[in-house]
Amino acid sequence: MKVREVEGGFLVRIDKGEEILSTLTAWARERGIGSGALEGIGAIENARLGFFDIKRKEYETKELEGEYELVSLTGNISLVDGQPFVHAHCVLGRADCSLIGGHLFCATVAAAGEFFVRPFAEPMQRELNRDIGLKLLVI
Ligand code: ZN
Repeated sequence: MKVREVEGGFLVRIDKGEEILSTLTAWARERGIGSGALEGIGAIENARLGFFDIKRKEYETKELEGEYELVSLTGNISLVDGQPFVHAHCVLGRADCSLIGGHLFCATVAAAGEFFVRPFAEPMQRELNRDIGLKLLVI
């Protein structure tokens, strides 16, 4: 991983073989980033995506083996139990350019991972909403 501070935030390059969410989370913890916006593109492999089943209050997950374009990743950083938590959704592209997407649980960079993180001045918390079954942003 390489990071460069730029106007308004940080350019983050995550390298081949590195898992995206754990790398970003560890970096946010080191930098003391308690909130922010996140976007990214690249080429990834071996992703796990999820779809939140509102009735069951659980994620259905899918393991995606092989390589995909990371067409678009968008998300945010907040604090859960005082620790940085990266919430990211992504759209992935197959070789035939068809798309699949969802809540990102994990993905490893296969060739390139290029991200932009824009920290916010104030930390942002998440708390469990029992009616919904998710930890929602406290705003
Ligand atoms: Zn999500």
